Amino acid sequence: MIKLKTPEEIELMRESALVVSKTLGMLASEIKPGVNALFLDKLAEDFIREQGAEPGFLGMYDFPNTLNMSPNAQVVHGIPNAEPLKEGDIISVDCGALKNGYYGDHAYTFPVGEVAPETAKLLKVTKESLYLGISEFKAGNRVGDVAFAIQNYCENHGYGVVRELVGHGLGKSLHEGPEMPNYGKRGRGKQFKEGLVVAIEPMINMGTRRIKQLKDGWTILTADGKPSAHFEHNVAIVDGKPELLSTYQYIYDALGIETDEEDNFRKEKLVL
Ligand code: MG
Ligand code: MG
Repeated sequence: MIKLKTPEEIELMRESALVVSKTLGMLASEIKPGVNALFLDKLAEDFIREQGAEPGFLGMYDFPNTLNMSPNAQVVHGIPNAEPLKEGDIISVDCGALKNGYYGDHAYTFPVGEVAPETAKLLKVTKESLYLGISEFKAGNRVGDVAFAIQNYCENHGYGVVRELVGHGLGKSLHEGPEMPNYGKRGRGKQFKEGLVVAIEPMINMGTRRIKQLKDGWTILTADGKPSAHFEHNVAIVDGKPELLSTYQYIYDALGIETDEEDNFRKEKLVL
């Protein structure tokens, strides 16, 4: 079901989103070779609670942890384990938080130390596709406009766009309408209106788009074992235009990365 948000609700949702953004920023300086995902998961749980919020994924559909941690060929929904990360790995970290009754839910794929150039390119292109999708998230446009922008860009790079998992509306529920697929046709699907808040989240494979699921009932991985990337932002339609509620700026501050990639999607400059 689609539930449009009032400006007051959007401000509350920005708070929920920022809990997640700060958590990803905290993790950015902890992700390095030798560290394991279970350790990072515990750090994240404590950090979220310290901010007066609840982990959004813990216990949801019986998920056992705070973070979805999906290394290398895992696409999404990886369960944190005690295996140490290695130099050259990538790890997709998806985090949810519940504050004031609203969910934040976004993700970033981190390189662990130095990664191969083709892996770095997968991360770069996937993130670029997210912003191309966000550019199309405006009043009057449709689900297919966002979907096409993401699909077209990634497929032009020879990548596989995962079909089975999609973005979604966000609010008092973690998953609201509309579904936000990363593939589709321009001008098709539900039309966007003022006050809609969604999670846009391309899941992009270096090779085949095909996926499989582990017997744990959660972990989704690429069918060919090649790496996969996942970037997710929370975005509202404000004054007809896309307004980012989440930010990667905490990550970039932690890692010393300079970028203006978010500037077009925020009415006021972000003050951290
Ligand atoms: Mg997510
Ligand atoms: Mg999501």
